[in-house]
Amino acid sequence: MLTQNRELIHGLFPQEIDLGNEPAYRRAQILEWLYRHRTRDFSQMKNLPVPLRTRLAEKYSAEHLPCVREQGSADTTRKFLWQLPTGDYVESVLIPASPGADGRRADRRTLCVSSQVGCAYGCRFCASGLDGWKRHLSAAEIVLQVLSAQSISGQRVDHIVFMGMGEPLANLDNVLKAITILNAPWGMGIAARNITVSTSGLVKKISELARQPLQIELAISLHGPDNETREKIMPINKKHPVEELIAACRDYQAHKKRRITFEYILIEDINSSQEHARRLARLIRGIDAKVNLIPYNTVPGLEWKRPNDDVCKKFAKILREHSITCTIRLEKGHDIAAACGQLRLQKFLDEKQPNAPYALKAPAKSTDPPPVGAPALV
Ligand code: SF4
Repeated sequence: MLTQNRELIHGLFPQEIDLGNEPAYRRAQILEWLYRHRTRDFSQMKNLPVPLRTRLAEKYSAEHLPCVREQGSADTTRKFLWQLPTGDYVESVLIPASPGADGRRADRRTLCVSSQVGCAYGCRFCASGLDGWKRHLSAAEIVLQVLSAQSISGQRVDHIVFMGMGEPLANLDNVLKAITILNAPWGMGIAARNITVSTSGLVKKISELARQPLQIELAISLHGPDNETREKIMPINKKHPVEELIAACRDYQAHKKRRITFEYILIEDINSSQEHARRLARLIRGIDAKVNLIPYNTVPGLEWKRPNDDVCKKFAKILREHSITCTIRLEKGHDIAAACGQLRLQKFLDEKQPNAPYALKAPAKSTDPPPVGAPALV
């Protein structure tokens, strides 16, 4: 069981691990146990001297996060509800690959991770902000979502998206530390280009990120091509209007030379007209960008609707006529509320409806077979 009394060792860089008088090469041995063998018990680290194992166990925790609920859906998307050492809960979603263009399954496993408990930004389509912001996650709590999901699923995660609960750029220091550990050869070895940070548009933080050496991907939750439209969806637009945000994206690209992804949720009668599509094309002209069009997911308790398929296709057609690369995202995980903007809401609803059939139960053992297939709830 994770406790608050000992530091979480998975949030440390190698040089931060206190070895006492032991030689430095012990660090490489410890890291191998932690990340290659996923050992959670220092007493099992057989090539370390016993006094060092004892010292580490007194000072640090190597436990993974307890999973208090796991849901698997028909398309094998799996959602994990983790309990943190403070007793808070966050979720991660393991997303299988979409079929490739040639119909074959691409071999990739993406984990969508959370970066905060709750969220302060209140994007109107998003379930994560419904019960407010509580705190930032530590670097360890981010890394442990990945490690714990790998251990439970038995699958190697090779792509990470920061699109779970929270605004990652509001917690930039911890997020960058976690990414460094996830990316490091001594850590989880996940390629930086396979790690995407998504932001609602924190302009100053985008500029800070542009000056970081890590070659990660940036996604912007845009959702509106002008201030009037975007403000209906993204309250942050009042602070950082569209022009400022796009200028920050141009600056980012000038430094990083990497393609930016714009996320655009299509909502009926709000931002999905053909005129909106033309304005969007004008707004991002000259940026090397890809637009992900995401037909809105109906979220219980929120009022908006998904436009019909024709509206979505026309929107995409206009962007393509302006030479903008775009995709209409095939949402996965719809039936377990794990699609974009739906994280956290279910927990929120559980609390409002304590007799709901999916109310929390005792922690699942990581060796339990996962409920894959029908949307079975554990
Ligand atoms: S979309 Fe992101 S920034 Fe906006 S409320 Fe949801 S978690 Fe927060």
